[in-house]
Amino acid sequence: MGAAVRRAVALSCLPATRLASRLRPGIRILMYHRVRPSAGHDQLSVSPERFERQIAHLAGTRKVVSLADAVAALTAASVQPESVAVTFDDGYLDNLVYALPVLRRHGIPATIFVTTEFCDQTRSHPRYPAQSERLHLDWREVRALAREPGITIGSHTISHPFLQRLGDDEARHEIADSRSRIQDELGIATDFFCYPSGDVTARESRLAREAGYRAAVTVAPGANRPGSDLWALRRTEITDRDEPRELSMKLAGAFDPIHAVLHWKRRRAFAAAARDPNMQRG
Ligand SMILES: [Zn+2]
Repeated sequence: MGAAVRRAVALSCLPATRLASRLRPGIRILMYHRVRPSAGHDQLSVSPERFERQIAHLAGTRKVVSLADAVAALTAASVQPESVAVTFDDGYLDNLVYALPVLRRHGIPATIFVTTEFCDQTRSHPRYPAQSERLHLDWREVRALAREPGITIGSHTISHPFLQRLGDDEARHEIADSRSRIQDELGIATDFFCYPSGDVTARESRLAREAGYRAAVTVAPGANRPGSDLWALRRTEITDRDEPRELSMKLAGAFDPIHAVLHWKRRRAFAAAARDPNMQRG
């Protein structure tokens, strides 16, 4: 589906989704990956200039809360309208270099989900081939971020696997031992987990709960409302194409129906790949 068609469908959905979010306020958790200049057409990268405009828009129009406050509000069923939380996946070094100054300037809290072997620098996200510059935050930088007011560190496993394809013991190791490793490195336990690639079934969410996380995030689209499964929280991906107008539409849920269809297809592919380990997908 082309961008123009997606936008036309989203515009037609806007009045209904806007009404729904007014009647039943929810918390929208935004998903970012990288913030860096000259990213070309990388779906996971937002330029620092665009990021600045997006964060300024959020700061001016929304109630931006930490993930901890979002979970507390969902638990207490006291969600304020227009609530938003900001998250980053994979622990890229550019989060510290380009995103942090913008977040600081606007006083916006955020959660960064790190993969422990990425922080060890023994593995890196396969999407980005080896470069001269370092891709991921190291532990010293993660500790510095954890000391920043408003910044929370969460776990994104040990090696960033497709969890569904792992046996029970391996999956438990990735989910639980990444939490203890982060605690060892930072001196504080983390309450939040993020499933790599959004590859999650009932087993993974049970393991996240058993490992002691208070909540976990997926890539299922939509807003979170009181009663939502805290170990399968929904998120909304923000891209470099999102100028404040598109961002407003996304925050009002206009893109949710399209994203729900795409997400359903992705889940089917994950399940098929988990059934047949020889098939490499995603
Ligand atoms: Zn990831």
